Amino acid sequence: MTPKESLIAGFRRFKQDSYPAHVAAYRRLSSGQRPRTMIVACSDSRVDPAAIFSAGPGELFVVRNVANLVPPFAADRMHHGTSAALEFAVTALKVEQIVVMGHGQCGGIQACLAAASGPAPSYFVGQWVEIAAPARDAVIAAHPGASPPEQQLELEMESIRRSLAHLESFPFVREAVASRGMALDGAWFAIAEGDLHWLDRASGRFELIAAG
Ligand SMILES: [Zn+2]
Repeated sequence: MTPKESLIAGFRRFKQDSYPAHVAAYRRLSSGQRPRTMIVACSDSRVDPAAIFSAGPGELFVVRNVANLVPPFAADRMHHGTSAALEFAVTALKVEQIVVMGHGQCGGIQACLAAASGPAPSYFVGQWVEIAAPARDAVIAAHPGASPPEQQLELEMESIRRSLAHLESFPFVREAVASRGMALDGAWFAIAEGDLHWLDRASGRFELIAAG
């Protein structure tokens, strides 16, 4: 089966099974969306927010990018896809929470670590993951004897904490937090185990969500 044939077959299963199961929701949603949650997730094919959170149509407003990074606020008239999605979610959709969700074995985080001791991986990926360079440098300084997998795990988590701090650099995010209590959360997904760890922002630790 070619990739296109696989997609078409998948669409046909959706139209036969999933769409009829959610037809009322799709018809209602055609007049507008009102998701309560925005997720910033990695583009990685193994980490699908809708699957992990068992979310149906209209429930999650998702932006995915390499290494689930939130850049700091920058009004520099450049093209900021993630910042545009944030602005729309917060100011137009008025989401009640934003979750930055990272994951294990993240290639983008690995590229950021590799760039500390060698050439940048490629132009666009290299430029993009530089967002996490301050977090990377802090992790390397704090864990000098750590193995590469240990450093990677630490950076996957530290970059989530710093993305939450970057969220707070956006004036409209600060305003939504202050005026209507919008929540900012972090999470990290373990691929092989299917485990979700939720960030306790007071302690800075990621805590395993008990299943069932
Ligand atoms: Zn990733």
